[in-house]
Amino acid sequence: MTERPDGDFSIDTLLAAVAVGAGGAVVPPIVQTSLFSFDNYKAFEDRMAGRSDDPLYTRVQNPTVAAFENMVAGAEEGEAAVGFASGMAAISSTVLALVKPGDRIACVEHVYPDAYRFFERLLRPFGVDVTYHPVDDFENDPDLLAGVKIAYLESPNTVVFQAMNLPKVAAHAKRHGALTVIDNSWATPVFQRPLTLGVDIVLHSASKYLSGHSDTVAGVVVANAELIGRIRDLSLSLLGGKLAPFEAFLLTRGLRTLGARMRQHQSTANRFVDNLSAHALVRNVLSPGPNSVPGLTGRSGLLSVELDERVSIPDFADALKLFRLGVSWGGFESLVLPAQIALNQAGEENSLQHFGVSGRIVRLSLGLEDPRDLWADFDAALNLSANRK
Ligand SMILES: *Cc1c(COP(=O)(O)O)cnc(C)c1O
Repeated sequence: MTERPDGDFSIDTLLAAVAVGAGGAVVPPIVQTSLFSFDNYKAFEDRMAGRSDDPLYTRVQNPTVAAFENMVAGAEEGEAAVGFASGMAAISSTVLALVKPGDRIACVEHVYPDAYRFFERLLRPFGVDVTYHPVDDFENDPDLLAGVKIAYLESPNTVVFQAMNLPKVAAHAKRHGALTVIDNSWATPVFQRPLTLGVDIVLHSASKYLSGHSDTVAGVVVANAELIGRIRDLSLSLLGGKLAPFEAFLLTRGLRTLGARMRQHQSTANRFVDNLSAHALVRNVLSPGPNSVPGLTGRSGLLSVELDERVSIPDFADALKLFRLGVSWGGFESLVLPAQIALNQAGEENSLQHFGVSGRIVRLSLGLEDPRDLWADFDAALNLSANRK
């Protein structure tokens, strides 16, 4: 089993020093089994009666998955964590474990598009009300959360990357007995630890920075032991969206370099923000900087730019040589996602349309390539695609 090092270490040290294997192995074994058998009647009976917590069945418990959960819990400074098959499984399972018909969720505007679709298409028909509010209202209306069961937060939120004063919002929520849930995929625990700012539950799409290698789809939730127990019991046992041992293994591998990767993403993002802010073909740069809100200590590599009308966005996208076109983010490779493509996405509940995102916006995920090469590519494509008549 995983042992976290004793002492008050930084995230880098913690994630490097976690000992995971038996016999001195520094890497956890992939425990690729569906079930765990028992030596005798008594041991089996004790497990089923809840008198021991020996592994029983991989849907609810697996040592490789536990190694990953332990690392993330440590990094987020939480008591416990539970892994899921995807970020969406983490989101839907967490929310379903905590609400019942008649409850209300207050959600931040510009929430992740599939979270919005989950609220609208699945939760609302089951009698859970969801209301959407700007960041300002969460911060400045102390009674916004009166009668609310869950405040569902992202800081920063999606595509437009507005950051929120989490200590303030968490304090408002506590006063009204609302649970705060935050998607911390953008900042990661390297740049923001919401549990230390008063938030109740942190979740991640581990497919992004926690993995870092674009080879895994996974999710994770961190909170106190009581809440994780409730989420684990309801969600893994009954909904079954478990994390696979092999993917958990890939995630423990990715987590070892999380701090180093985030610092490299930050350094490239800082250079881009400076260059983009001074560029004649850029109208606006959307990227919250370190200390723009309390508790946010860094800038990740995911940001948006609003391009000038003179730029043909399809021509710009096709002129890029290093940046690839695609969804997702947080890997080693740089990507662009033009908002217009997401605005044109098929389906009834399109959150970009609902929240009114501009089609002039392009989202960038800055990877681990040399920042000079990346900027040269970006700048050349921008200039090539501009109509300067
Ligand atoms: C990708 C993403 C999710 C969903 O995660 P999956 O692992 O793709 O299910 C949730 N929140 C944010 C902010 C994301 O970017």
